[in-house]
Amino acid sequence: MERPAPSAAAERTIRLAGFDRDGIADGPGLRCVVFVQGCPHHCPGCQNPQTWDFDADVEVTTPSDLRRRIEETVLDTGVTFSGGEPFSQPDALADLAEMLRPRYDVASYTGYTFEGLLKLAETKPGVMRLLRSIDILVDGPFVQARADRLLLFRGSNNQRILDAPASLAEGRAVWTRDPAWVGDDGLARVAPPQEM
Ligand code: SF4
Repeated sequence: MERPAPSAAAERTIRLAGFDRDGIADGPGLRCVVFVQGCPHHCPGCQNPQTWDFDADVEVTTPSDLRRRIEETVLDTGVTFSGGEPFSQPDALADLAEMLRPRYDVASYTGYTFEGLLKLAETKPGVMRLLRSIDILVDGPFVQARADRLLLFRGSNNQRILDAPASLAEGRAVWTRDPAWVGDDGLARVAPPQEM
């Protein structure tokens, strides 16, 4: 009797809330933004509450499919994972990030703090895989009382823009010094409007 050919290992899947090309709000330059579905944090004032439900009827895709969509863009040089909570789907996003680097700079938002992710990684190895696969981590929940419209790439001033490799190497949160992320003065704020 003929045996079926062994199939390739099944690719991991990503529950997708949305995908944007040419974004300018979630990191420097033109970027693709992968919005994942499902978030456990439920921050009051969240801009994307439709992404909270882990069981919502959304598109389910693969890292390979997203890589194809990203590579179809002409001008985008960065990719940002947003949400939802990217670290709730860490292995599939780590697969995608590994496919994309070093050609693209890869950033991820998270509602966890960096310290919280290190703790989570003790029981979920995928969390460490994703941390190791990205360049920038914008960490922490959105806190309405600390919201500030002049912040670069952040909603509230408790959030930090971290150099992920340096933070892992030092075992503590290390802010990025990349002026593309934090501005030439390193303050990660946009200039306030000038008085006329
Ligand atoms: S972590 Fe982000 S997506 Fe989740 S509730 Fe907070 S602001 Fe919304």
